[in-house]
Amino acid sequence: MSARDPNCIFCAIAAGEAPAEIIDSDEHTVTLLDINPATKGHALVIPRDHTEDLMSISEEDLCHTAVAAQRVARRMEETLEPDGFNLINACRVAAWQTVFHFHIHVVPRYEGDPLKLPWIPRGADMDEIASIAATIRGGGEG
Ligand code: AMP
Ligand code: ZN
Repeated sequence: MSARDPNCIFCAIAAGEAPAEIIDSDEHTVTLLDINPATKGHALVIPRDHTEDLMSISEEDLCHTAVAAQRVARRMEETLEPDGFNLINACRVAAWQTVFHFHIHVVPRYEGDPLKLPWIPRGADMDEIASIAATIRGGGEG
């Protein structure tokens, strides 16, 4: 039995109780096509067990979903013949998350497709980058 949230659409899909175009599944994961695709074949890999986001998912389910994402991308490579892929995860509202059951977007990319890099590369002050790195490391120097 999977851990389930009764109000979660992805839990319902994983349980086979809500409609979805499922393209891959295994003991720990299900992969479905996104109903608002960014590109042809845009898919979502979800763990069967409900967990909200990157902060709460277990290492095991994170591994299972990453491996499933690679498997799905390899199958798309043979079938849809895209030119590349993006794997995307949104963690929390500030990062665009809208469905609060962890998922990895597998977005096949095609030369000339309309997607844009979601940030503007602007260069940086290297002292500031070093200071941020030190903060993340815990204030130490290495
Ligand atoms: P995110 O905004 O990263 O949380 O991604 C949620 C994604 O789930 C969006 O791209 C939605 O289009 C997609 N989505 C929401 N409900 C469904 C559904 N019932 N079946 C398939 N995809 C869905
Ligand atoms: Zn869920």
